[in-house]
Amino acid sequence: MSVKEIKEKRLHILTNSHCNNGCLFCSDLHKQNRAEFKNLKKYAENDLKAMRGKIDRVLFSSGEPTLNPALPDLIKLAMKYGYKKVDLITNGRKLADKKFCENLLKAGLNEISVSLHGSKKEVHDAITRVPGSFEETFFGLCNLSFFAKKYPFRFFVNFLLNKINYRDMENYLRLMLTFDGVEGIVFNTVLPEGRADRYFEQIVPRYFKVGKEVARVLKKFEKRLKNRRPEILVLGLPPCVLPGAERNIIEYESAVRRKNAKSEAIKPTSVKWPKKIKGSECAECRFFDSCSGVWEAYVRRRGWKEFKPVKKI
Ligand code: SF4
Repeated sequence: MSVKEIKEKRLHILTNSHCNNGCLFCSDLHKQNRAEFKNLKKYAENDLKAMRGKIDRVLFSSGEPTLNPALPDLIKLAMKYGYKKVDLITNGRKLADKKFCENLLKAGLNEISVSLHGSKKEVHDAITRVPGSFEETFFGLCNLSFFAKKYPFRFFVNFLLNKINYRDMENYLRLMLTFDGVEGIVFNTVLPEGRADRYFEQIVPRYFKVGKEVARVLKKFEKRLKNRRPEILVLGLPPCVLPGAERNIIEYESAVRRKNAKSEAIKPTSVKWPKKIKGSECAECRFFDSCSGVWEAYVRRRGWKEFKPVKKI
């Protein structure tokens, strides 16, 4: 087994085959062979060695990486081999243990993305299906916020917009703005695969309804967020359902930056997003070049009617 995937010059180490949350939208159903992860240290060390000097970024994710006891040692190894950026994607529950959290930071972890999907336990725990998970992740964030002054790392929070939580976005944003040190807040959209496909009607909202709510909330917080810190990023929704909030869409922003940087035509985004599609009307849309389209699995279930081209100026 290879535990590495090289994406955008980042060594991606799949660190676990299971998770202590059971999120209704999870598309990562951890089908990997559990036995192989017992030897993770050996595999990962080989990969870290093989790629040293060629790339400078490592990401630990998949399943819940903090449940693999090898994680702190792997972070140390990554540092020893000279990787400059060492990232972790986590549900943050184990970070509630202050000592564990500090050990990861001491080992050299310097970018962390924590998933919290509601402003209160009634919302978050209904999604993770684990009572008490909100409290643990919340305390994990408190610990990161506490250590932000002591260690050189950046942390982001992830909120996956779905039927259960999207009306909680305003409370969530208000709560997140009370944390010191948060670099960015990412509002992502459900990819209808894995469990999200199984629980589609229960969990996947109409994108145009979510877009309307996201645009409303961002408008409300406009003044407070003017200095762009924390940065608010939206992923997975096309600009046509986010009137007024297009600049927060991560694909749109990066496409505009690419264009400004090189003053050349933007490459078709479908190359980067093979699971997304555009409708025939999209050719009429002013966002055609910068939009990455809509998840094909969503369109298959819900059709294309809600996505209307935005008139060119
Ligand atoms: S290109 Fe298509 S999907 Fe993208 S914003 Fe325009 S109409 Fe919507």
